[in-house]
Amino acid sequence: MATTTDAIAKVRQEFPFLRRKVHGGLPLTYFDNAAMTPVPSIVQQRLASYYQSDTANIHRGLYYVSVEATRQYEDARKRVQKFINAKHCDEIIFMPGTTIALNLLAQAISAQFAATSNNDSEKTEIILTTMEHHSNIVPWQLQTNLCIKYLPMLANGELDLDALPQLISSKTKLISLVHASNSIGTINPLPEILQLCKAHGLITIVDAAQSVGHMPVDVQTLDCDYLVFSSHKIYAPTGVGVLYGKQDMLKQLPVVSGGGGSIKQVDLDKTSFLPPPAKFEAGTPNISGVLGLDSALEFLMNNDLPQLWQHEQDLLSYATAALQEIDGVRIIGTARQKVSILSFVIAGIHPHDIGTLLDFEGIAVRASHHCTHPTMKHFKVPATVRAAFSFFNTTAEVDLLVKAVSKAIHTFR
Ligand code: PLP
Repeated sequence: MATTTDAIAKVRQEFPFLRRKVHGGLPLTYFDNAAMTPVPSIVQQRLASYYQSDTANIHRGLYYVSVEATRQYEDARKRVQKFINAKHCDEIIFMPGTTIALNLLAQAISAQFAATSNNDSEKTEIILTTMEHHSNIVPWQLQTNLCIKYLPMLANGELDLDALPQLISSKTKLISLVHASNSIGTINPLPEILQLCKAHGLITIVDAAQSVGHMPVDVQTLDCDYLVFSSHKIYAPTGVGVLYGKQDMLKQLPVVSGGGGSIKQVDLDKTSFLPPPAKFEAGTPNISGVLGLDSALEFLMNNDLPQLWQHEQDLLSYATAALQEIDGVRIIGTARQKVSILSFVIAGIHPHDIGTLLDFEGIAVRASHHCTHPTMKHFKVPATVRAAFSFFNTTAEVDLLVKAVSKAIHTFR
């Protein structure tokens, strides 16, 4: 087995983006991997190859190139199935991203609740958590027949699991929660949470946007009903997401967005739909993006992922220890289990100012509320500086971050 240093050096070569210079010649130190991961060369080549030689729409073309494009698109579905260990490949639905997938679920499931409710005035209760990305709050708030209850966080940014049983009543029908927080990194203990919720008959939805690229995600082991993620956080192009749903759940789920490609028969007064996944993939999908995702997953599966992911954890520990040493730095989110996301604030300096000063050193971090207003409110901060490490980052880059943070503090004092 290659040493970790050799493995990281090798994997870095696969990302041309990492050789980019900024501000007229500074090497780029890229730590915004929770927002967007760069793509390896194999993904760039796949996009080029689709537009050079396989450019055709899929599924209904009877000619050679269209059949070939369709085969590649459906092979990508099989690759995703393998990557998250779904039982059937028709449990994988390609979407434009996590946000759209969660909106689809919120609309379709609330319509299901409305159709089966005996009492129009009684709202169905659902559970979210206070650490959700806005994408897992707003779509549910838009459904007027739902009453949302929130599982709170403890001071360290872990969920308060003791509060969960009290939130579940006879009116509660669903829980939707994040696997790993995008703003503070907390990994939620899904097996424990999902087991309790399933024992009460709740539908279970997992937002795996920040976990699927950084730890094993196995939908059969988790036994969740639905799981969603976006491709641009897993070394693939933008504009593609995955909605996983158990076969029997998808069969029951109503269509909320119809059109070409999803139908069996359209008459002027009614439409019948194909079985999943086609039922949920109306319109021309992002074909090149899906092929790019296929290549990104191939790239990941051809690497020693446990070794790479352990390196991310080592970077997290190394950076946390070093930043904690700096006077005035407060780490936001100190859960025991975290993905490689490190959020912090500095006493007396706005996170946006830190973000700008780090950029002057060529260091790309995110300084923002990270689309998690309730999480920011919990920690009583307007925003944080977030360094999100990928396996291609190095301890030398973390040293640059630590040095630049010290320098930024010095500038302000
Ligand atoms: N959920 C989490 C945990 C996220 O980190 C993000 C994006 O950062 C989203 C949902 C929304 O993903 P997208 O913008 O790809 O739809």
